[in-house]
Amino acid sequence: MAAPTASQRYLSSRGGSYGFSFEEAVLKGLAADGGLFIPEAIPSLPAGWESAWAGLSFQELAYEVLSLYISADEISAEDLKSLIDRSYSTFRHPDIAPVVDLIPEDNLHVMELFHGPTFAFKDVALQFVGNLFEYFLIRKNAQNDAEDGKRHALTVIGATSGDTGSAAIYGLRGKKDVSVFILHPKGKVSPIQEAQMTTVLDDNVHNLAVEGTFDDCQDIVKTLFSHPILSKTHNLGAVNSINWARILAQIVYYFSSYFALANKVGGSPKIRYVVPTGNFGDILAGYFAKRMGLPIDQLVIATNANDILDRFVKSGRYEKHPVSAEEGEGGIAEDGAKAHPGGVKETLAPAMDILVSSNFERLLWYLALECVSEVAVGNDEPTQEQKETAGATVQQWMNDLKTVGTTIVPDSVLSAARRDFASERVSDEDTVATIKKVFTTPPSAPYVLDPHSAIGVCAAMRIIEKSEDKDAHYVSLSTAHPAKFNHAVDLALGEVEGYDFETTVRPKEFIGLEQREKRVRVIERPDAELVRAAVEEMLEVEGKV
Ligand SMILES: *Cc1c(COP(=O)(O)O)cnc(C)c1O
Repeated sequence: MAAPTASQRYLSSRGGSYGFSFEEAVLKGLAADGGLFIPEAIPSLPAGWESAWAGLSFQELAYEVLSLYISADEISAEDLKSLIDRSYSTFRHPDIAPVVDLIPEDNLHVMELFHGPTFAFKDVALQFVGNLFEYFLIRKNAQNDAEDGKRHALTVIGATSGDTGSAAIYGLRGKKDVSVFILHPKGKVSPIQEAQMTTVLDDNVHNLAVEGTFDDCQDIVKTLFSHPILSKTHNLGAVNSINWARILAQIVYYFSSYFALANKVGGSPKIRYVVPTGNFGDILAGYFAKRMGLPIDQLVIATNANDILDRFVKSGRYEKHPVSAEEGEGGIAEDGAKAHPGGVKETLAPAMDILVSSNFERLLWYLALECVSEVAVGNDEPTQEQKETAGATVQQWMNDLKTVGTTIVPDSVLSAARRDFASERVSDEDTVATIKKVFTTPPSAPYVLDPHSAIGVCAAMRIIEKSEDKDAHYVSLSTAHPAKFNHAVDLALGEVEGYDFETTVRPKEFIGLEQREKRVRVIERPDAELVRAAVEEMLEVEGKV
């Protein structure tokens, strides 16, 4: 078998590790130096890919894309195909990520990424990640090499404000040798999201409702990951968007939508992808697709009032708080979004309410390689010295962000970023107005957008308005089904004639969901020790210790 290529080996964005296998990158999640794993080179598409891949199904395309990043020595072609097939067998739509025409005369399309089990785009990645974890553990246990004779097992612990939790639970339910603990702030997630999580009754799924806030839940998870005993006696795993496998799985739908559009309009369309962005995972996958050679004209970052990325694209300053926004410290922030003392603003699109976008660090490494190490953009493998310079640069930038709250990149880096990315920031008012406009105005009426997807569509509409180029096609990524965020949808459409949540939006899968049997354990105080004790006890009941 062939040795892994550079794109099948992984390094840390902060320069502390090189030459990791795909399995190591996935199971570790985060590198020891705090950096994120990225492939040592971005693979180029094979000659003739456009005709060879044109007729492939989503699953076949996934195999072609993923095998460029995973050595067949690690996962055989047959096993990878089977992992992919199982991961997408849970989707309700045969195309997995269908592209629909929203406003044909403006070449505006929506790619629906919400046909997975929890009705949100995170399923596309987490269904695959769950199967991948199980695959690696089964293999380790078959090799039977555990030092103490125990089975290899993974204990996944995560915090959720509602959305990621259900996608993680559905990705990991029933998986052999994996247990999952999801903490949510009690009474602070929407009833639908709460029901989605707590009605999963598999033995390996544990919901912990913490009396406290989402920030409390996150702090507890951080404490547990560095807990001197728990982190040694258990193999702890994370499923947040820093896991490389999640980014990888998301690259596929940029290819599938490219072919869907090429099929529709004929020839090679000029495409701009508009992506509602929080942690920069979804859109980073688009960057990989573009660098691999998919002809993407532009990637548009669409943020809500938590706009660190929009501010970066406009200024080259990557900073937690804009200099002029001291009013962001608590109280009411501009455009009516409620701000927490820590600075995150609560918007109608909660899955994008972040202060810092973790995956942005991955992009920064490639920009540092190009601009600081001066490696021409192409997909040749850089030298070790060039890689080390890029790693040291990112380390410095992240250090500045941590210590002074700001990183200012050189002009060359900003220009390189602007070659691929544009950005728009969308307020809650515009989000609501977009949901209403799309539902009420032909030709898109009566299409219903969720608030996250509406941020993308609003950004796309603004760019279409500004653009001279009438040939470009816009694919706006739709990241959740509107029924998941009924509060914002009701706010936009509640008064509109012909709209009724139950008949217009609610999928049949949600009917009676809230009345189903639930399993959830309440943690009376936001206390890491209480959670640790509960985790140990539940693992014991499960027979995992
Ligand atoms: C997670 C999420 C996003 C943001 O995705 P990132 O990869 O963090 O940029 C957008 N919309 C919905 C519905 C999400 O769940």
